[in-house]
Amino acid sequence: MLTQTLPRSTAFAALEALARDRILILDGAMGTQIQQLGLSEADFLGRGSGCACRHATDHPQKGNNDLLVLTQPQAIEEIHFRYAMAGADIVETNTFSATTIAQADYGLEGAVFDLNAAGARVARAAMDRAEATDGRRRFVAGAVGPTNRTASLSPDVNDPGYRAVTFDDLRTAYGQQVRGLIAGGADILLIETIFDTLNAKAAIFACFEAFAERGERLPVMISGTITDASGRTLSGQTPTAFWHSVAHARPFTVGLNCALGASAMRPHLAELAGVAGCAICAYPNAGLPNAFGQYDETPDQTAAQVAEFAREGLINVVGGCCGTTPDHIRAIAAAVKPFPPRALS
Ligand SMILES: [Zn+2]
Repeated sequence: MLTQTLPRSTAFAALEALARDRILILDGAMGTQIQQLGLSEADFLGRGSGCACRHATDHPQKGNNDLLVLTQPQAIEEIHFRYAMAGADIVETNTFSATTIAQADYGLEGAVFDLNAAGARVARAAMDRAEATDGRRRFVAGAVGPTNRTASLSPDVNDPGYRAVTFDDLRTAYGQQVRGLIAGGADILLIETIFDTLNAKAAIFACFEAFAERGERLPVMISGTITDASGRTLSGQTPTAFWHSVAHARPFTVGLNCALGASAMRPHLAELAGVAGCAICAYPNAGLPNAFGQYDETPDQTAAQVAEFAREGLINVVGGCCGTTPDHIRAIAAAVKPFPPRALS
């Protein structure tokens, strides 16, 4: 691809240098932190806070967590700040569902650029505060979720050839998201929770189109999710096949997140670490959800399992997904500190 000849951003070089030196820490879950705020519909709309979203629609917005970067920016900034002070070098923007495809559920397709630009700005503001507090450089990763549609599988069991979304639909939607994230100051683009590799390839394509416009290449982090004991993604790939499908992006990291707890993730991570020609990133859930959909694993329990990844030399970047908190991230950072990062060629 022509864009492979683009110069790399300064953040890209800085991250690679840091990743050779030590294991970098990624933040934890945003959803559980937002839930604890107990926000009402009026809070989601920002009424009374002086920052109401000019895109508000007739659709109910409670549960549209991504909207909060516009309507409750101080609350989101505070969550990012807490993760940074817990030890995170990299925090993810609150933009997992900020695509036209996912925001269609809320009638906010027109807000997508603003959501992503504001999401990156809010995270950057928190990182600037953290850097001013302890002098450590922090990075903002623009979170790009899988959307709620899949390009390589049919949602209709009676029509296996049907697709609810095409590669070009996804490429366009991801393009809007990525341009917003870059405009807001994201240092990294993090394509995460990938269950369908074709969706991820559309996101990678959109990133490289945006990089070509910008004239420089930002670091891309690519994170798949293994959803069952067979050790495959929903679209049927093993970790090795997944790596070969995304290697053309020359990512900063490839890795796994979500779905399984750390122990169940370990063999799949080891397989990926055995084949990938870039840094490895893992951010598991705090164990498996209980009958109520909650995560019971304590910070020490998660950290002890993640420390095994580090002891085995499997990881360069590590953090937490669903159910993890700033306390989990603090415990993980302490637990991996004695270990060197996985060797990079
Ligand atoms: Zn998760």
